[in-house]
Amino acid sequence: MTPWMALAALAGVMFGSLANVLIHRIPRRESIAFPASHCPSCGRDIRWYDNVPLLSWLLLKGRCRYCDARIPLRYPLVELSVGLGWGFLAWLLPPGPELASGLVLFYLLLVLSWIDLETGLLPDVLTYPGMLLGILLSAWQGRLLDAVVGVAAGYAFFWMVAMAFLRLTGREGMGHGDFKLLAMLGAFMGWQALPFIVFVASLTGTVFGGLGLLLSRGKLRSEIPFGPYLAFAGLLWFLAGENLLAWYAALLHSEA
Ligand SMILES: [Zn+2]
Repeated sequence: MTPWMALAALAGVMFGSLANVLIHRIPRRESIAFPASHCPSCGRDIRWYDNVPLLSWLLLKGRCRYCDARIPLRYPLVELSVGLGWGFLAWLLPPGPELASGLVLFYLLLVLSWIDLETGLLPDVLTYPGMLLGILLSAWQGRLLDAVVGVAAGYAFFWMVAMAFLRLTGREGMGHGDFKLLAMLGAFMGWQALPFIVFVASLTGTVFGGLGLLLSRGKLRSEIPFGPYLAFAGLLWFLAGENLLAWYAALLHSEA
């Protein structure tokens, strides 16, 4: 492990701590900055030494120092995920706009997926700034047009699918947050990424969603969050999309 990777991983763990604040407060419409971190159970302020990413959770054995309330496993898990993800990206990519894009994208997708799993929401306060950041980071890579078309195409495509679904079934099949998340992915990776993302997300969503429905014998809520599947497909494209397409093309070619 190079010092550069270690630095990225450490920064990831610190920013993972902020990600936990976003995941907890944004769906509750609480301010991000005020008040200071406090236990939601007893309301006591959390001291800095009880707020050290990863370590404090382990030392406190996952419980509040004052009232013994459980601190969800999500806290160390999110911190660890961002640390590992950022360390991996710093290993994969040289410093530059593509790495910056990967770090921001991974972070936003993790926060959005977690909020979607917990609440079924993909808040605008994350997806709109995400689109803007995606466009800026793409422009830095000389791909401004791809990104702008990506935003428009991503939103429009899901909008049309949702309209068609509504016409056919009389039900809303997809949340508007999904339109905006696909638009955000288009901003980061250009319109070229969208067919792959929609295909992989639909496929994995159908397989795992169906599996979940079977295992829970239909007790699972019928509206399965689609955000995590879009996030997974988006990351897959970011890491390996063009290689996967080339591999698939070669496969078709060899069978013909
Ligand atoms: Zn407490």
